[in-house]
Amino acid sequence: MRLTCDVEVLDRMLATANLRKASKPVRAQMAIGRSSPSNNVYMMICTTKDKSGSEQFGQSFHKADVIQLKSFLNVLRQVVQGKTLDKTVFSVLAPVTTKKIERPKTVMVITTKKNYPLTTNFPSTLETLQVNDCNMRRIDSRIFQLRNLVSLDLSDNSLNDVLDGIGSLQMLAELILKNNKFQKFPVTICKLKTLQKSLSLLDLSDNQIRQLPVQICELTNLMTLKADNNVIEQIPPTIGRLQNLKSVSLAGNKLTVLPAGFMRLRLENVDLYGNSFIITENETTADSVDVPTLLECAARYVRKYRLPYSEEDLHPHLCRYLDSARVCWCGSFCFQGSVGYTRMVDLRAVTSAITAVDTTGRTAVPVQGYLCSPQCLNKFKTDPNAYWK
Ligand SMILES: [Zn+2]
Repeated sequence: MRLTCDVEVLDRMLATANLRKASKPVRAQMAIGRSSPSNNVYMMICTTKDKSGSEQFGQSFHKADVIQLKSFLNVLRQVVQGKTLDKTVFSVLAPVTTKKIERPKTVMVITTKKNYPLTTNFPSTLETLQVNDCNMRRIDSRIFQLRNLVSLDLSDNSLNDVLDGIGSLQMLAELILKNNKFQKFPVTICKLKTLQKSLSLLDLSDNQIRQLPVQICELTNLMTLKADNNVIEQIPPTIGRLQNLKSVSLAGNKLTVLPAGFMRLRLENVDLYGNSFIITENETTADSVDVPTLLECAARYVRKYRLPYSEEDLHPHLCRYLDSARVCWCGSFCFQGSVGYTRMVDLRAVTSAITAVDTTGRTAVPVQGYLCSPQCLNKFKTDPNAYWK
């Protein structure tokens, strides 16, 4: 019966005298077995310093496999209670090899194809995995088994899609897919409940992505979004929902205008250098807001109450209509029955650490918004800056 874990040895006598010796847990292998020649049952601790082992009591166990620890403690209880253990087969206690008590491998970096593990498995304890320049076209399904993975960097490969299997990585906080062959934003990432909760950094720089989809707003834990050097023309109007977002980097894209919802973000830094922003002085285009159509009323309701919809229940045309929702500065959704406005806004309204958007050092960008009702239009006309206050 063996168990590999971090062991901290405590002297209970010191504790009763209100003393505590400073100690640090060490990686060790615990074993319960018979000692020849006496054939009595002993517990042995082997560490890198003491591979042949010593017998001690009062240990606390850390970082052990839960199932192994349970069965180990079960056997230990039986021994302590003096139960007959004749039926339990114990091996004779023997020294261990260094490999057996090595700390579990948590980081793996592969930068050439020849180092890619084809015949061996990835260590199941990995927390950080980096696989670059391996011409990977699909994510290796063995990676989806790495339940402890926190950071996955697959930069500089040939990926163009992300499979559902990635949803089994429940701890995944960082996903780096820089310099691959994505032409579409991998929407799978946004739909998986596990990633919606865990993902805090997403890097899709140096791909060929045209659009950031509305679904990205489901990644509510996202703190860093990088998508530099793509061909992104649009940011979803609901982007302001990503209230944990602290850093946005969309340099070298094809943005002409930002949605007004962007101004709801409170960022630590933003980089929008080298886009195609159109400088405009246009304020608002209409004097009144029409009465919404029945279709518009129904669609506003669906979006307001976040009713789920898909092409299985609705005509694709209606799904696209629902996807095209605009967000009024009052927070309500609206569609064609709204009034649009465009105005120049300084990015200092969302962050203090800002990079200029062009070589002239300009920090103002055109922002496009919509007004859902006569009340909102009136408020806008009275004070167009109210939204950003
Ligand atoms: Zn409104």
